Amino acid sequence: MSNVAVTDPNGRGSPSEPRENLRAAHDNWETVIGLEIHAQLATRSKIFSGSPTAYGAPPNTQANLIDLGYPGVLPVLNAEAVRMAVKFGLAIGARIASHSVFARKNYFYPDLPKGYQISQYELPIVAQGALDILHEDGARKRIGITRAHLEEDAGKSLHEGLAGWTGIDLNRAGTPLLEIVSEPDLRSAREAVAYMKKVHTLVRYLEICDGNMQEGSFRCDANVSVRRRGSEKLGTRAEIKNVNSFRFVEKAIHYEVARQIELIEAGGRVVQETRLYDPDKGETRSMRTKEEANDYRYFPDPDLLPLAVPPSLIEEVRRSLPELPDQKAERLASQYGLSAYDAGVLTASRELASYYEEVVRRVPGEPKLAANWVMGELAAALNRDNLDIARSRLSPARLAGLLERIGDATISGKIAKEVFEAMWTSGRDADAIIAEKGLKQITDSAAIERVIEEIMAKNPGQLADYRAGKDKLFGFFVGQVMKATQGKANPAQVNELLKRKLSS
Ligand code: ADP
Ligand code: MG
Repeated sequence: MSNVAVTDPNGRGSPSEPRENLRAAHDNWETVIGLEIHAQLATRSKIFSGSPTAYGAPPNTQANLIDLGYPGVLPVLNAEAVRMAVKFGLAIGARIASHSVFARKNYFYPDLPKGYQISQYELPIVAQGALDILHEDGARKRIGITRAHLEEDAGKSLHEGLAGWTGIDLNRAGTPLLEIVSEPDLRSAREAVAYMKKVHTLVRYLEICDGNMQEGSFRCDANVSVRRRGSEKLGTRAEIKNVNSFRFVEKAIHYEVARQIELIEAGGRVVQETRLYDPDKGETRSMRTKEEANDYRYFPDPDLLPLAVPPSLIEEVRRSLPELPDQKAERLASQYGLSAYDAGVLTASRELASYYEEVVRRVPGEPKLAANWVMGELAAALNRDNLDIARSRLSPARLAGLLERIGDATISGKIAKEVFEAMWTSGRDADAIIAEKGLKQITDSAAIERVIEEIMAKNPGQLADYRAGKDKLFGFFVGQVMKATQGKANPAQVNELLKRKLSS
């Protein structure tokens, strides 16, 4: 593995291989990525049984004989899971199969006592859709979605606190999953993350998945390969299993791309295999060679009828669709004059978008100012305190109250940041803080003029230099006035009055 450290994306490079050479080497290669995302569907009961799906119950209290595949039991398909899959399919403009089939995927693993997983193989319920991702410059890229199929989850192995033993918790067995398989259309770790975030946004808009990545409700397998730039043929891929954070996906891909390039350039060959990302070490490790589909002996599950989705169901689900992320982003962009990128950021979740719109409703004249504050100070504060927008310490009304005071020139943008911090920690409104701390902007010209005169009197040298043509000193005088007024003088007035006074 020594060749691996050289290309470590965290920069622990070997001294014999300067990173510039590596970068040049990488320019000759193109990265190709396809993601398989597993979204746990937010049904109350399992996909083929009535057991609850709630997270966090004591081990093995939520698995019944159907989930465990006891002989003689019969699975019954959960209609809600079907509706959710249809909903997703419609939202990505896919074809909804009127007829799809559940198959048995046979393999042995301790967390799968049945010996097979029920999944869809040849005939998935959703096929041929697409999603657009947005680059920071506003450019759009369409990512194909090959298919999305329904399947059941397996159980979970437990090691913690078991001193050398492995426990099996089967609560998760039979939990409904939608596996969303992309085309190999992604060309960088960044695109992969943007796509994964977009899917995450979409499933939460549709309320078909809670998106909780810590609890494993949303996770992905990243298929990664490289090929020489200009080549049409796909390289051999490695599949990095079960990555459950955006940051880890990005890091795992960077690592894997570097590993593959390094390997090929050293004369080796990438083998098709399943790898595991180790977040502590920041590297991927081989887990097993990749099985082929025929290793699984897929065959239609004899216990389940083919799944029929009638047009009436599709129409009913279509009518239930909410405003989708792209529609909302387009509306926000045109209604409030926002850039495509900003509108994309503000519509990352329904909660964030409605927070923003609630602010704008209260300060209708300031949609851009509102966008800047929501994406800037507010996002930073939420991030710092690890809160999501639903638990913001500042209500939309409070933030709107602050923006009003910027809009009517009571305070400057700079002072507003100070007021924001005080609002965030105290929960009080902007006016109370402005009054208490005496932060009201000075807009009285006579008062500003008096300050200017004092400063001119105190700095005769600079004044003479300025008048002798050293224009750059203007900034010095502005700084002095702002300092003397603790930043409270209205900046536009300071500029205007200074110009007049200094040259008279
Ligand atoms: P499997 O089901 O065996 O994992 P699939 O052919 O269904 O294989 O592909 C799974 C995922 O791997 C898809 O997202 C696909 O886009 C991606 N993929 C396939 N070939 C490559 C490749 N050469 N490089 C990168 N990704 C690939
Ligand atoms: Mg796969």
